[in-house]
Formats: sequence, structure tokens, C-alpha cells
Amino acid sequence: MDRIAREMMTHDFADAAWQERHAITRVDQLRAWMGVAAGDDLMRDIELGLARAPMAMRITPYVLNLIDWSNFLQDPIRKQFIPVGSEILPSHPLRRMDSLHERESSPVDGLVHRYQDKVLLLATDRCPVYCRFCTRSYGVGLDTQSVSKKRSPAFQSRWDTILAYLRATPVIVDVVVSGGDCFRLKPSRILTIGMGLLSIPSIRRVRFATKGLAVLPMKVTSDHEWTDALAEVSDAGRNRGVEVSFHTHFNHPREITAYTIAAAELLFKAGIRMRNQSVLMAGVNDDPEVMQQLVKTLSDLHIQPYYVYTCDLIDGIEHLRCSVRLACQIEKAVRGITAGYNTPLFVVDTPGGGGKRDVHSFEHYDSQTGIAVYQAPSVRPKQLFTYPDPLHSLAPDVQVAWSDPQHAKRMLTDAVEAGRANSTGFE
Ligand code: SF4
Repeated sequence: MDRIAREMMTHDFADAAWQERHAITRVDQLRAWMGVAAGDDLMRDIELGLARAPMAMRITPYVLNLIDWSNFLQDPIRKQFIPVGSEILPSHPLRRMDSLHERESSPVDGLVHRYQDKVLLLATDRCPVYCRFCTRSYGVGLDTQSVSKKRSPAFQSRWDTILAYLRATPVIVDVVVSGGDCFRLKPSRILTIGMGLLSIPSIRRVRFATKGLAVLPMKVTSDHEWTDALAEVSDAGRNRGVEVSFHTHFNHPREITAYTIAAAELLFKAGIRMRNQSVLMAGVNDDPEVMQQLVKTLSDLHIQPYYVYTCDLIDGIEHLRCSVRLACQIEKAVRGITAGYNTPLFVVDTPGGGGKRDVHSFEHYDSQTGIAVYQAPSVRPKQLFTYPDPLHSLAPDVQVAWSDPQHAKRMLTDAVEAGRANSTGFE
């Protein structure tokens, strides 16, 4: 776009601080950015979308530059960050604000302990961008018109408690530092967290999880203090026999640019292991060719494609969710195109806190009612977990059945009974 070309000449587009300063957070800023593409009807549609979205808007100029404005409504980058009211479908009746029950699994504020030997450390509630489909829409980002976020106390006040819990629980060997996004952590905090975790002898692996490399890659190449802090933690971990890795979040091959390549090369040369987690979304990457290209391109950057998640059951994103059947089909199309270790596992993060399950591993799946039933023996052995397909993937009469609470309850009970009959460990 002319405007962006001008910005790039007058500002340092490759500077992360400039990107942060110029992030778009309001509709009037977006209108100004869009210029002639911002018709009144479209802007009203965006305002309507934002009014119903659980996530606030924040988009870097870099991401705005990735959007094909001539194909705004269908653009796979736009769909991740800018809601439009006309595409939002009624949410599934099973959606919940904290659909993975993370807060129930938090022994101390800001630490989710669901799996036996692994925890999730929520180090911040801020991100360089806000994604519409965020699992943590209950607590990440600013309040929206529809959601008042559940805030954790300030990090400094809970850090000692978190460290004490980790020291007292030596079964935990693996810590994911997330949030929010570690791109919003100051270098001093990266060091505090990284070195603090490395001081605990039982911890063997630390992962810093971020969408940042996909939406603000110039952070790695221009914020030297931040990148040096990450490299320092990585080096210290290696010297102590602890793996410190970097988990990225790319969803579409168009998110990979010359800026990404430069950043990934720098991290690779610094010896930092990288893995990617994607979210499968309709109209974004629910196409075998798109997913294949994403997997190949990431592999070439030494970013190991690790997981592809189905969307969680979050408000306002029913149109982005894909069925279990489609997830299985795309997984089959991807498996075999490259080395197995670069082939992502397609997973359902089961609503209700069963954790991640291989999408194919259901005990029962009825594509008519759209209910998949999963067992989670090492997380909650006595329970079965259901994941529903999006309503729009079901026949009209089944969609009507879901809107009747009694009928919906019966479909769920029948599915769980069928799952129980097929599964082991429930005698
Ligand atoms: S960057 Fe991650 S934590 Fe932040 S809004 Fe996106 S998905 Fe959520």
C-alpha cells in the first residue's frame, strides 16, 4: 500500500519499538490506516464485531501490512485479528469463558498445573497483538464491551509464591512461560523468570511461548537487550543440562516474511530450539495445501511444527472453528509430506480440563451430532471429555436440536455412554 510504503520511508519499520508505538488499538486509527478501503458499512461492521468480541483490538503495522486489503473479508490474516459483526455466528451452547478450566487447575495465582510433570506459567496478560481466538480471552488483554477480564495480581507479588510451589513440587520438570506473550516482558523479567526457573534443580525444560515471531519478528533483530536476555537464559540452561526453547505461533504461510527469516536465523544461530503451535481455523488454514506449505516453510526455518490445535470453545469465533472430521482429514494430508519429526500432531484441547488429546484418539465420534468423546487417563482418569463440532458443520435439524437444552443433554449423554463403552478403565 502507498501509505505503508510512505511509513516505511519515514519511519524505521524494522524497529520493534516503532511497531509497538504505532500499534492500532481503536477503530478510528484503523479507519485512518485503511484509507480508501474504509467504507462506512465496513467500519460499522468492524465496530459491531468488536462490540461482540471477547478480545480487544491491537495490531502492529507489520501485521496490517500482511493483510490483503483488496480481499479484506476473506483474508486469512485479517480473520485472526479484526472481527466483523456480519461473520460472527451464534456461539455453541457448550462454550465457556474459561473453557479449559485453567483457573480451576491453578494451585497458585498465575500457574496452571494440569499435567503431572508440566506447568504453565502466566507471566503477563499483555501481547503485541490480540488474537480473536485466544484461549485465555477470560484474562488476556484489555476489558472489552462484553468481557471484564479476570486479572492475576501483579507478577512481582506472585513470583515468590510460584517459585516456592515449583521448589516444593519436584515432580514438575517442564515449565511453559506464556501469558499473554513473552514478547511483552522486559529483558530484566526474562532474566528473572529464566534464571529463577533454572535455579530449581528439578526443572529440566523451560519453554518461552510467543506469537511474537509471527507478528513482530523485528523484536528479535532490533531489541538487542531482549534477545540477549533470551540467549543468556538459553546458554545458562544448556550449561546446566536444561533445554530452554522458544515456542512460536504461526498459522499461515503468509505470516513468514524476510523479517521472520532474519529473526529465525538469528535465534537458530544462537542455538535456541524452536517449535511451532498453530490453531486450525476455517478460512485461515483449513486447507491441506496451506497447512502443507506452512509445515514445509517452518521446517526450513528450523522451527519444528509441533502442534495444530482445534479452536477452543470461545465466544464469537464459532465461524472459525473446524470439525474433528476436517481436522483428521487435514492431518492425513500433511502426514508423509516431510520428516515425521517435522509433522505436527493435531490435537483437541478438551473442554473441561482433560488436556490435549490426539484428534484421532476419540473413544467415540458421531459426525451427525458432531460430538467427539476423549479419555484423558493421565490427567483425569475417571472422566470422559467431549468436544463439539461447530454448529455450522451440522445438518439444520441437528443445529436445532442443539438449541434445545433437553435434546442437547440427551445427545451428550448418549455420546458419553458410547465413549464409555468403547474406552478402557471404566469397568
Ligand atoms: S498472542 Fe497468544 S496469548 Fe496473546 S492473544 Fe494471541 S493467542 Fe492469546
